[in-house]
Amino acid sequence: MGFRPHVYTRATRLGLTGFVGNDSAGVFIELQGEIDRIVAFESELQSQPPPLAQIETYSSIEVDFVQGDSGFLILESETVAAGHTSISPDIATCDACLAEMLDPADRRYRYPFVNCTNCGPRFTIIRGTPYDRPQTTMATFTMCAACQSEYDSPSNRRFHAQPNACPVCGPRLTYLEEGTEVCSDGTALQAACDALAQGKIIAIKGIGGFHLAVRANDEVAVTRLRERKHRWAKPLAIMVRDIASACMFASISVDEARVLEGHARPIVLLRRSRDETTLAAQIAPGTNEVGVMLPYSGLHALLMQASGPLVMTSGNLSNEPILWRNEDALDKLKGIADAFLLHDRDIHVPCDDSVVRICGADELPIRRSRGYAPLPVRLWHPGPSVLAVGAELKSTFCLTQQNHAFLSQHIGDMESYETLTAFERALAHFQGIFRATPDVVACDLHPGYLSSRWAREYAATHSLPLVEVQHHHAHLCSAMAEHGLDPDTPILGIIFDGTGYGTDGAIWGGEILLGNYDGFERVMHLRYTPMPGGDASIRHPYRMALAHLWAAGVPWDHQLPCVANVPDSELTILARQLQTNFGCSPTSSIGRLFDAAAALIGVRQTAQYEAQAAIELEAISATVSTAMPYPVEICDGKIDARPIIRALAEELLSGVPRGILASRFHRTIVETIVVAAAQAREATGIGIVALSGGVMQNATVATLACIQLRTRGFRVLQQQSVPANDGGIALGQAAIAVRKMQRGGL
Ligand SMILES: [Zn+2]
Ligand SMILES: [Zn+2]
Repeated sequence: MGFRPHVYTRATRLGLTGFVGNDSAGVFIELQGEIDRIVAFESELQSQPPPLAQIETYSSIEVDFVQGDSGFLILESETVAAGHTSISPDIATCDACLAEMLDPADRRYRYPFVNCTNCGPRFTIIRGTPYDRPQTTMATFTMCAACQSEYDSPSNRRFHAQPNACPVCGPRLTYLEEGTEVCSDGTALQAACDALAQGKIIAIKGIGGFHLAVRANDEVAVTRLRERKHRWAKPLAIMVRDIASACMFASISVDEARVLEGHARPIVLLRRSRDETTLAAQIAPGTNEVGVMLPYSGLHALLMQASGPLVMTSGNLSNEPILWRNEDALDKLKGIADAFLLHDRDIHVPCDDSVVRICGADELPIRRSRGYAPLPVRLWHPGPSVLAVGAELKSTFCLTQQNHAFLSQHIGDMESYETLTAFERALAHFQGIFRATPDVVACDLHPGYLSSRWAREYAATHSLPLVEVQHHHAHLCSAMAEHGLDPDTPILGIIFDGTGYGTDGAIWGGEILLGNYDGFERVMHLRYTPMPGGDASIRHPYRMALAHLWAAGVPWDHQLPCVANVPDSELTILARQLQTNFGCSPTSSIGRLFDAAAALIGVRQTAQYEAQAAIELEAISATVSTAMPYPVEICDGKIDARPIIRALAEELLSGVPRGILASRFHRTIVETIVVAAAQAREATGIGIVALSGGVMQNATVATLACIQLRTRGFRVLQQQSVPANDGGIALGQAAIAVRKMQRGGL
């Protein structure tokens, strides 16, 4: 912080809870010194906290005790309350460390594992608390004399830097081809870069797991990576050296640059420049965005120096969690990667890259993982310990302890044995480091979710009460908890989502709820439409288009793309299904309405990844700057999609361009939010609106809805700390269960 000893006459003592610098255990730091210096320190901490600081409370008292004549002391830390611990997320390499790594005269010149108290791995190498070297995966490396003296010296930047290392004593790189070590250390990195230049796919071990890397301008290599990974369409993230390199293919706002360069280093979704040709077309086909991150370890920085932008996608098999152990990666990725760049610092817990989008100045998390987990969300009041297991897709769990809700890193889609194993492992780790034993378990109401089944079994085995939470109620409460709202005040929640099990057994997802942690009332919802074949309709958006056309009484005209692309035999079966309601689940999902609109106007008939149709529809709508919404009809608490479907079909057949139709559709969704909120406010007198659910990740909808609601005097709660998608749902489940326990409801 750069405070020098100072002669002073008055003194004050400032208490902080949370953690600062390397004190990642819960601490109460006391500072003593001249009041001006303390005030300066305090305001600096508040306005520009050091990378690893998370200050929760301040207190200051004037003291008459004056010690010596030097005026600024950081007194011995003490643990605040038994069991209260905080763990820092992993932090991107700081500028001081990077400068050393690039200085030929420095002993860490070109050393990929450079770190200090201000940066480096934390969460992913910690085995237990307190956070000390023997409790990390660095325990196997014995510091050399030079490193040890840095570690022991209070004035050194590496004082008590647990992962401190250098080329003499620390972790090393190895490069392998066909399972055999080819070279190690400095030559390993060069060998990997040479292989990348030849178009090879390299599995690279990073901070939280493995990446699969290829050159981002190499169309053949990118296509080969997609083929081998069986990942046909889902966008691939890329890593670039710096902001200037990203500007070659994307337009970047000041706020996007700030987050790209921030110490969490998430993948930021950027708008691709029109007609750019720097990147392989296969990186993000069908979208106008590209996910970009900057290097966050010394290894990445060296890689970026030696090669251009790289695709850096998670090193996993499809539908499985990210790989993090050398032996597992060598085994499972051998059919995908041509070579491996490994190191011998073990990753204790895997942690995927985080993904965010910037809307205006706000950071909207899409995947909250490395760099953010396990920072807690503060609850309104200390409560019992709750384990909330989330939903199914984008799974995370939430473990609460006192007034802290610790949301896990991204685990993956909870649909396979491997993901369940990763979930159990991550949970055991959280319970260990936060010393929390659940008093109650919370899960989704959906009877078939793997997470719900697991929770039921866990609760039964441990004789714990189980709270089953309706999916969209959890979304509403996730937003409430994130914004620290008074639990007694009900708010409005506009929850537009893909899928969620409703209390009536229907598939919900277009919900206007009034509620708080204590419960909810379904004020309005999208009028039910039959969903033929359940999940088959999610994979085949044309089925939803046909169902919506049927519900709206629009004939299946063969000039409509969603009709033209379907064989007559399937049309006959679908028509019969809809007429007899056989195998049809009723749904109020706005996510499915997006699918229907995308298929109806010919954007996408079959989805290869979740929300693909909606993402491509948004990309097309962005080509039109203004468009009028279709009229919104809400009658008896039912939002009617039929007029929208009729208008889309009619305009399409009369030759209106798809971009305009897509744009009008988006604006209609925004108008629906505004009209529904206004009606609900009139009926309830409540003007606080939470926007949540997967659809709120749509930048066009989220941005316009926020602006228009605020213009009309609403207080809008957008999800900015935890995702609006199902990755944030565990927080809402946890808050509901905490409240229920507090009120003696269990
Ligand atoms: Zn550093
Ligand atoms: Zn050393």
